[in-house]
Amino acid sequence: MKSNTVLWMVIPCYNEEVVLPKTAPMFLAQLNHMVAEGQISDESRILFVNDGSSDDTWKLIENFSKQDKHYIGIAQSRNRGHQNAVLAGLMEAMDHCDITISIDCDGQDDIHAMEEMVKQYHEGSDIVYGVRNNRDTDSWFKRTTAQSYYKLLNRMDVEVVYNHADYRLVSSKVLHYFADFHEVNLFLRGMFPLVGFRSTCVYYKREERVAGKSHYPLSKMLHLAFDGITSLSIKPIQMIAGAGLFIDSSELSG
Ligand code: UDP
Ligand code: MG
Repeated sequence: MKSNTVLWMVIPCYNEEVVLPKTAPMFLAQLNHMVAEGQISDESRILFVNDGSSDDTWKLIENFSKQDKHYIGIAQSRNRGHQNAVLAGLMEAMDHCDITISIDCDGQDDIHAMEEMVKQYHEGSDIVYGVRNNRDTDSWFKRTTAQSYYKLLNRMDVEVVYNHADYRLVSSKVLHYFADFHEVNLFLRGMFPLVGFRSTCVYYKREERVAGKSHYPLSKMLHLAFDGITSLSIKPIQMIAGAGLFIDSSELSG
């Protein structure tokens, strides 16, 4: 049985020359498997987004694309960060495919969950969130801060799926609506729930990186965390306005 559903995997890559030779063939094997299973069309693609890498990442992507028609790539002019790289890939993909799946390139997100994601799409969901069901690959610090952060987002009325990062299926229909958001401080996981299409979750076990090391130092994590709150909640502005009023009136009364 053949499927007409065209999938584009969108994969951000920043200085991943030691990782890509290991994971690119895994993505291709997964794509071929889903084609053979009749889940997706053979016109599906693996889109690497080179996020201004200073190593040989782009050279590798060029070589992959010569080896197999399913591999393609785009490059950002400079390093603009993970969220921007994912968004650039999704915007590139949306006119060429029916569905996208964004996934990190380092092998941490279980590629096999894609089958369940596509199944959920065929059953009517336009967004499928990949949700990790373990945090044992995180340090104690990352685990604790992540949990407090989700609680804080909740108190700020920002709707996010607990333990979901950026492993996600999104249909091109949703992406066309999404393209109208002109948000600069990107926090994609909090923005997709806002478009209001039918969504569901798929659970998977998050692994260690297959090689190399994380590009998310504490400073970048804090930046992302800050964007999550300031771009999606009006509460900080209300608090500042409230504090302003309080100071004003105490001056008047004083
Ligand atoms: N990445 C990117 N631009 C950046 C930093 C990271 O495109 O400025 C990519 C990176 O290559 C990987 C994904 O984003 O595919 C997640 O990054 P990383 O694995 O370093 O983060 P962690 O999993 O440690 O949070
Ligand atoms: Mg990673």
